[in-house]
Amino acid sequence: MLVSKIFNFHAAHQLTEYHGDCERLHGHTYKVIVTIDHPVQEDGLALDFAVLEKLVWEKAVGLLDHSFLNDHMKNPSAENIVVWLWRKLIGALPVKLHEIVLYETPTSFVTYRGA
Ligand SMILES: [Zn+2]
Repeated sequence: MLVSKIFNFHAAHQLTEYHGDCERLHGHTYKVIVTIDHPVQEDGLALDFAVLEKLVWEKAVGLLDHSFLNDHMKNPSAENIVVWLWRKLIGALPVKLHEIVLYETPTSFVTYRGA
């Protein structure tokens, strides 16, 4: 069963290795969709939404909220941010991480499934 939670966070970034709108310091409201893959248990749940929400926020997304992304990683493009989130979550979740989708704008997003 695939189980997902949606998160939003606000952050600033500056892409130093890119020439375009994201070259200058500015912010985005990012949307993240984290999906895990786990069999449904006897209680009827694959993973409690509340547990997923708490873990993802505390171990990954919350660390970036209202921050300057360049303080956390080099060249924080959507691609680099989603890999950063994946690495934070892969060891923090008690179930298999299936996919992370990161929206930088309402119409621009990346999808990562590891490797
Ligand atoms: Zn940007």
